[in-house]
Amino acid sequence: MKDKITKIIRPNCCGFEPYVAGKPVETLKRELGLKKIIKIASNENPLGPSKKAVKAIKDNLDKIFFYPDSNVFELKKALSERYRLPTGNIFTGAGGDEIIELLAKLFFNPEDEIVISKHSFVRYGMAVQLMGSKAVVVPMKNGFTHDLKAMAKACNKKTKAVFVTNPNNPTGTYNTKAELAVFLKELPLNKYGVKPLVFLDEAYFEYASLKKDYPDGLEFLKDNPNLIVFRTFSKVYGLAGLRVGYGFADECIVDYIERTRPPFNVNILAQAAAVVSIKDKEHVKKGQKLAKTGKEYLYKELKKLKVKYVDSAANFVLVNVSTLKGKDFFKAMLKEGVIIRAMDEYELYDWVRVTVGLPAENKMFIQKLKKIIRKAED
Ligand SMILES: *Cc1c(COP(=O)(O)O)cnc(C)c1O
Repeated sequence: MKDKITKIIRPNCCGFEPYVAGKPVETLKRELGLKKIIKIASNENPLGPSKKAVKAIKDNLDKIFFYPDSNVFELKKALSERYRLPTGNIFTGAGGDEIIELLAKLFFNPEDEIVISKHSFVRYGMAVQLMGSKAVVVPMKNGFTHDLKAMAKACNKKTKAVFVTNPNNPTGTYNTKAELAVFLKELPLNKYGVKPLVFLDEAYFEYASLKKDYPDGLEFLKDNPNLIVFRTFSKVYGLAGLRVGYGFADECIVDYIERTRPPFNVNILAQAAAVVSIKDKEHVKKGQKLAKTGKEYLYKELKKLKVKYVDSAANFVLVNVSTLKGKDFFKAMLKEGVIIRAMDEYELYDWVRVTVGLPAENKMFIQKLKKIIRKAED
């Protein structure tokens, strides 16, 4: 049967590997029978959602027999007020993940080339593959940062779009305001007579915005109609389980996204929670602060242990575990009840990515890391 099915699947879809998601706590509990398990794997905010969001969800529970508002009116209004842009420039989706796919479906033809950075978010390559376009992968600068100069150079007549992750997942590095400005300017025209689209993924905007020279993508929208900026409620806002993200673009682009997206892609509870979350600045501040102090603790401890890591502008840290392979370290950590992420699908085989957790979680990670490294060195 499998052979027959494979024949009728679109060839682009046959090559897909299953997505490796961070392991849920309950799954590991079942598998290992461990009592204490922490998940610091998927860059969620360990403080959880805003209390106001939880209340909004409860208040809307008895409305879930209704379809959600297809126009996402209240959320767009709240985003418009928060970011001082007209609602006509704003779109939403079921997480940044769906936004990536919506953009790919809207723009990518098989003959198009899409420029991506090596070691950037795996979902871009998957979207390109889904549409049967060609991904052009550009090596990073100094190993871990988007090389925007090289990415602009990689653009040619066939280039439809460029994905830029700022800050990048999984390396945590960011490109400066000056770098982004030069990049947008340097992009050459393609065969359509326009600059390639720039999909600027700012999933960790709130964390990175603490850095002085980190650019706010929205400031570049006015002069760059080819720019699409998107963000998410999954990270600092603590709503990953609800699936809601948002983006900003030229109003013609937004109009096409609106026409092609599934009409009810952002569910009723997600809309209600997002509207109040965007206004809860205190909660965002707490999340930012927790990540900052958590990173400082991790850096200090890793330095003491002479374990290499990459400085991160986000709420996770890429850690070098070269005494072990990343995957083996990941497995050893699982046995200790700590869920992190191995980086094999990012071709970072000696590294793992650790989400900055609560102080006790960070401490547990360091303790277990010491134990595993000692054992490996014996
Ligand atoms: C987490 C993340 C997203 C979006 O995640 P959603 O949960 O789908 O909103 C997008 N891009 C990057 C780089 C991410 O790390």
